[in-house]
Amino acid sequence: MSTRPLLNRRLNGMGSTIFAEMSALATATGAINLGQGFPDTDGPAEIAEAAVRAIREGRGNQYPPGPGIPELRTAIAEHQQRFYGLGYDPDGEVLVTAGATEAIAAAMLALLEPGDEVIAFEPFYDSYAACIAMAGATRVPLTLRAPDFRPDLDLLRAKVTPRTRLLLLNSPHNPTGMVLTPDELTAIAELACERDLLVVTDEVYEHLVFDGAHHPIAALPGMRERTVSISSAGKTFSFTGWKVGWVTASRELVAAVRTAKQYLTYVSAGPFQYAVAEALRLPDSYYAGFRADLLRKRDLLDTGLRAAGFEVYEPQGTYFITTDITPFGEKDAYAFCRALPERCGVVAIPNSVFYDDPDAGRSQVRFTFCKQDAVLADAVARLERLGG
Ligand code: PMP
Ligand code: GLN
Repeated sequence: MSTRPLLNRRLNGMGSTIFAEMSALATATGAINLGQGFPDTDGPAEIAEAAVRAIREGRGNQYPPGPGIPELRTAIAEHQQRFYGLGYDPDGEVLVTAGATEAIAAAMLALLEPGDEVIAFEPFYDSYAACIAMAGATRVPLTLRAPDFRPDLDLLRAKVTPRTRLLLLNSPHNPTGMVLTPDELTAIAELACERDLLVVTDEVYEHLVFDGAHHPIAALPGMRERTVSISSAGKTFSFTGWKVGWVTASRELVAAVRTAKQYLTYVSAGPFQYAVAEALRLPDSYYAGFRADLLRKRDLLDTGLRAAGFEVYEPQGTYFITTDITPFGEKDAYAFCRALPERCGVVAIPNSVFYDDPDAGRSQVRFTFCKQDAVLADAVARLERLGG
């Protein structure tokens, strides 16, 4: 057999996601899993029932249409109008994907040529680096620094070169919880227009903004025709296993992304698409209640982590809290997270793996708070042992 490595070199070093690694550690040790971001209670019962009904009634059990079922595409378009005043034609400007993950992959594969540069916030959500690499493009990090993780917009401007093809945004930002302000979004939009850049924006935490509101960059002047907006049902409706995501963009951009998407999964999640169409039409009280519930949990975990001795960077959005472990005399987030189950029965995620700059996030650890209050309280009590 040839000695050539089996794994394509673009994927070198991307062996296993940190989420899989840390969830396996939680299972193996029985520790409380505040690592991977999935809720420990399912979303609304009537939405689960809608999926069951769809299966029983034979809706979506065979391949759904390539762009997604019309009911869901219409519901997505209505959602963009209802929350942001953005008008998209369900027929051609909306694409249903296998979670936001596939939307990101399809967008990168469709829109990038080898040699293109993509500017993205660092720490990166892990699939960004992999998808940019699979497209043969180069990632250019814009490092978000503690304590507030605001992007340095002058630095962003300086990083744009003639090879820059697109800006990959994520707000609310995983893992830091940073939410772009209207002023920052305006400056980024102006830069994109001036330098003729595409923008791909991952907005999966759009309904988890605790301070202020979520503002889609697609709504800003000149942005509709250059922005691919991505979201998903996983976080908003607490069904992360259903993997229903979507893209909204101009007809031309959707056509490009769809071209790549059709050779990735072709289609997915038939019956769940019907259920998510119902979910998107839930009344405002659902969305407000979801956010209020997570805000209470944020405050619970935030207070607990501070009491346990962490330096805590309060998130403005998402269901993650980034901390620093320096107060414990620790420097290496990865080693800390590997040892944490043994030390006190809790699993967390080392943010250090989401940085190209090894120093920028070396001592940062992320905890999720999308868990039952009692579980969060138990985790906090365990973490208090760390102080000694
Ligand atoms: N982007 C970000 C920032 C995420 O945190 C996640 C995880 N939900 C995804 C994309 C992937 O979303 P999905 O589960 O819908 O594929
Ligand atoms: N988005 C989830 C998180 O950040 C993880 C999803 C995954 O396991 N890839 O925790």
